[in-house]
Amino acid sequence: SGESHQSVGHDEDNSATELLATGFEMDSCLSRYQSKLYRKESPYKPSALLLSKLRSYEALHKRCGPHTLSYNTTVELLRSGHEHYEVSDCNYLVWISFSGLGNKILSIASAFLYALLTDRVLLIDCGTDIGDLFCEPFPDTAWLLPLDFPLIDQFHNFDQKSPQSYGNMLRNNMISNSSSSHPPWTYLHLVHDYDDYDKLFFCDQDQSIIQRAPWLIMKTDNYFIPSLFLIPSFEQQLNNLFPQKETVFHFLGRYLFHPTNLVWGLIARYYDTYLAKANEKIGIQIRVFDTDPRPFQHVFDQIVACTVKEGLLPELNAKEEVTNLGANQKLKAVLVTSLSSGYSEKLKSMYWDNPTVTGEVISVYQPSHEGYQNTENQIHNKKAWAEMYLLSLTDVLVTSSWSTFGYVAQGIGGLKPWLLYKPENRTVPNPPCSRDISMEPCFHAPPFYDCKAKTGVDTGKIVPHVRHCQGMGWGLKLV
Ligand code: GDP
Repeated sequence: SGESHQSVGHDEDNSATELLATGFEMDSCLSRYQSKLYRKESPYKPSALLLSKLRSYEALHKRCGPHTLSYNTTVELLRSGHEHYEVSDCNYLVWISFSGLGNKILSIASAFLYALLTDRVLLIDCGTDIGDLFCEPFPDTAWLLPLDFPLIDQFHNFDQKSPQSYGNMLRNNMISNSSSSHPPWTYLHLVHDYDDYDKLFFCDQDQSIIQRAPWLIMKTDNYFIPSLFLIPSFEQQLNNLFPQKETVFHFLGRYLFHPTNLVWGLIARYYDTYLAKANEKIGIQIRVFDTDPRPFQHVFDQIVACTVKEGLLPELNAKEEVTNLGANQKLKAVLVTSLSSGYSEKLKSMYWDNPTVTGEVISVYQPSHEGYQNTENQIHNKKAWAEMYLLSLTDVLVTSSWSTFGYVAQGIGGLKPWLLYKPENRTVPNPPCSRDISMEPCFHAPPFYDCKAKTGVDTGKIVPHVRHCQGMGWGLKLV
């Protein structure tokens, strides 16, 4: 991998068989073409239906995208404020930039699938960083929301209390199935603090009301796709698009998220320098949800207990001083990502101070140690994206429960990870980790409501392919 690669001109049209859109200038986004030099081919194949759906979405986005005639006319509805208007030929879903980068990536993927299912055009609020992190995924158009969009200044004020949210409009009897008028836009509050009214988003009859607005403005920090599989009007189409349920984010992630050239430089240089020569690459993503930033002994002990017990890293050889210094010695590279440098330093010393029982040599690398989460800082998020991507290039992945950072890596990589359980009372959990049930991300705040019976229900027990997550028992994930 990593050999030099010609990248001039346009790509070829293989749109009928390939996941990615074609028709781009190659130099504008090298990762789109060079990633195959760095990652193994996916063992999964997208369905023909998904490919044709993506191609027709691309045509729709081109026809309705920013500054087209349809876009301009539909934006006018927002300025006019009328509640009676002609049906627009283009309808939109606007995604508001919100939360940490892992959450953003998962919520963009969720919004995109919802847009596919409802024939809407997805436009992305670029916030402080989106345009610097990701290439345009759709050819000959733009997915970034124009900065002169009329409601853009209100985005940061939208919250659970906003009177324009679907939940609050319902609560205040502002909209219903029978009313003939409908405001031109509706705010969808799908953030983790959403209430029972907001959660009616996941009910068919509410979807039919919501779909009347030409503009939907969504704020969410969730991967809400598992619950879309429980909405009867989407169910059949989803099953046809994704015959293998656990590949949803794998394909959407690879389709949508291509690092910009600047981030690709960070990824490719790091890979070529530290990982390319290894016989095997192991990624360990360490996310400690504690306000205290120092490295903890129990977290280190947990990592060692997990990786050695599961045979991902070799045991230390306490009996001998030197083992198997041969030419065909195997090199394992461990890529650690963490806000703190403490864990990789300890792991590195452990394998310097002692030989291994297998004779393998273990090299340990950590690209950055930023200390604390700093979501609005630009280079910080470029590094975070580069690290998620580097993790996705490993052969074996260990992730931390509750962390969307790890979900992105496992999904894009097509890797079913070993999941480190979240420690309680600062002690090593027993067992320290286990193999995840699928490579899909977990929906952390799903609704538990039966829309037909109008009662609570365990939504993790309705269909076999939507189950509760390991490590976060109330979450839902596709398997
Ligand atoms: P989550 O909070 O673990 O679900 O992941 P998010 O990505 O949504 O938010 C965490 C943020 O903290 C990331 O976006 C980064 O800005 C930062 N962060 C957390 N862990 C790491 C890490 O290992 N490396 C880097 N570079 N940043 C991290």
